[in-house]
Amino acid sequence: MGARASGHPFPTPAPPGDTSAVARRTLFFDIDGTLLLTRRAGRSALHQAMREEFGLAEVDDQGIRFGGRTDRELVAAFLRTAGIDPSPLNQGRLRRRYVSAFRQAVRSTPGGVLPGVLDLIRELSQHSQVRLAVMTGNFPETARMKLECFGLLEYFSWIVGGDLDASRCDLARRAAARLIRRGGGGFTVIGDTVHDVRCARAIDARCLAVCTGSGTREELEREKADHIVDDLTDQSALAYLLQA
Ligand SMILES: [Mg+2]
Repeated sequence: MGARASGHPFPTPAPPGDTSAVARRTLFFDIDGTLLLTRRAGRSALHQAMREEFGLAEVDDQGIRFGGRTDRELVAAFLRTAGIDPSPLNQGRLRRRYVSAFRQAVRSTPGGVLPGVLDLIRELSQHSQVRLAVMTGNFPETARMKLECFGLLEYFSWIVGGDLDASRCDLARRAAARLIRRGGGGFTVIGDTVHDVRCARAIDARCLAVCTGSGTREELEREKADHIVDDLTDQSALAYLLQA
């Protein structure tokens, strides 16, 4: 309500305040490659949105780097590459069309929830010392659709999406600052790429890296992730995330 009153067209929910005597640790899960895979549903929806909203016959995304970028930055990059002014108006048009196209795309994706995810988050949701949040470069609307489509939405109390920041580290800093103002405890980032590890460093968080996405174990080790598992069936992941 506050965000809408301030005129922002896509309000992001406020983080939950911490009412417990002991501040809980917030576990920030990345989505793609960490919780689930959607097999390029986002890219195909963005292409469709560009064609439909701006009347393009073809969309060229050669030279657009996807890894580690937020959807806000990707939308601007697609517009620039097509020679369209990346004005706030055009970004808003593309975002709306993309979200609409994504709704269909995610329903038909051959992707799914990654191994061990459901058991892990069900177990974590029983522990009052942690709260589960999502931190992703996706727009909050499409992040929500992904979680909903695969039955994960109910477990997460907050979605931090890539609608306000160009870089994931800035997104992480903004989320951490909001939680600290509300009395939140420490943070842990769970992700599949070096970008997630860098996000963790940016907010002085621990990082659990998982090798189910686009990052290799070698890359994650080189980036010095605190704990690395092949996938979330590894029982050491639960123990690590429940550490005080
Ligand atoms: Mg990822």
